[in-house]
Amino acid sequence: MKQKPTMAKIAPKIARKIEVKAESKAGLKPAPMPSPRSVTLLGATGSIGSSTADLLRREPGRYTVEAVTAHRNAGALARLARELGARFAAIADASAFRELKSELAGTSIEAAAGEQAIVEAAQRPADWVMAAITGAASLAPTLAAAERGATVALANKECLVCAGGLFMRRAAANGATVLPVDSEHNAIFQAMSAGRRDDIRRIILTASGGPFRTLPLEAIRKVTVEQALKHPTWSMGPKVTIDSATLMNKGLELIEAHHLFGLTPDQLDVVVHPQSIVHGLVEFRDGSVIAQLGSPDMRIPISYCLAWPVRMGTPAPRLDLARVATLTFEEPDMVRFPALKLARQALAAGGAAPTVLNAANEIAVREFVAKRLDFGGIPALVEATLELAQRRGETAEPQSVDEALGVDHNARTLAANLLPEIAAMAS
Ligand code: NDP
Repeated sequence: MKQKPTMAKIAPKIARKIEVKAESKAGLKPAPMPSPRSVTLLGATGSIGSSTADLLRREPGRYTVEAVTAHRNAGALARLARELGARFAAIADASAFRELKSELAGTSIEAAAGEQAIVEAAQRPADWVMAAITGAASLAPTLAAAERGATVALANKECLVCAGGLFMRRAAANGATVLPVDSEHNAIFQAMSAGRRDDIRRIILTASGGPFRTLPLEAIRKVTVEQALKHPTWSMGPKVTIDSATLMNKGLELIEAHHLFGLTPDQLDVVVHPQSIVHGLVEFRDGSVIAQLGSPDMRIPISYCLAWPVRMGTPAPRLDLARVATLTFEEPDMVRFPALKLARQALAAGGAAPTVLNAANEIAVREFVAKRLDFGGIPALVEATLELAQRRGETAEPQSVDEALGVDHNARTLAANLLPEIAAMAS
């Protein structure tokens, strides 16, 4: 069933915050000064987690750290917990608990392990939660933070792709504020404050085009993991870097934008912009287009969310347009990058199609990184999984986390079963 976005329900907090900001700008209402804010970092040891920690270190006294989490990296998690003075450190992989406990010996930091411990970290009373766990594993903890009405800085996109309608409805019902961290959505969020929401005609997400932007189709199919992990402009974790190379990342971002901003699929556009300086644009009814620009450094959008509703300083390189000299834009090529087309189709189909797309993509990326699937096999596996799930009628929109995780699980199984055939065809 096609899902209709309802801005009033989906993102009232975002809409309200934009109004508050507009009022503050107009001098109608002074921007509230933030008091020391307690924060939790889900996915603290990753790329986004580290950039967030870097900002926290630069503002001693302005933030306190409630909890930090990781998957397996107990050593890095313990170091971060000690350094940031966290109260609670949780590791998802229970086999890493002993190491975490011993690394935290002699401190008062509470240690815990297992998936439920990550949810517990999200439930602890921090005002602000960075959701930066990779993949669908982020869904339960991020939802737990939203359900207690926290301000959620949402870096993870898979949880909106996997269960966006559900997530945004629960967030709104529980008074949570969702702030977009993803650079493109953060840019759009900033640009949206230039006008009324009803006057928005469309939004445009920019895409760097990834490392294979100019390669011919045949060459793209055979690229190596090492080549795919070299992003031309951004430094990110491995999953999102591979997604950027296939352009699946942009497809996931379209679905993310649909849920965050309550816009219809035909109001969402993508343009390839290799310099990654313009991050997102909003076109208003009168033809005005408002863009946000900046160096490609995630500390800018993270800081925007961290200091919300004011701004804070960051060490990100200042933008020097004369040095950049040229900004170029081109249409995305859906033939060489079919993942973007698949994501658009899943968005249009609605229901569970985006959940299946995301799960199949996670399996495909994992298999590519393990060198069991060619690069060209990534979209092929996603397409085959989507087709099979649709033929089986497994397409109803998940109404609960369990249902979403059930669809996710089934789609992973389908993808794993299809893998040998697709890998043989692609190679
Ligand atoms: P990383 O791979 O660098 O870090 C992921 C973090 O999540 C690590 O702390 C990791 O722990 C933890 N983690 C991974 N799997 C699990 C799991 N199953 N259970 C609990 N914790 C887990 O990712 P990024 O920081 O690059 O990205 C995080 C999210 O933000 C992704 O959804 C990505 O799409 C999104 N994003 C990232 C951007 C970027 O610039 N990096 C830009 C925009 C969005 P451990 O270290 O132990 O493995």
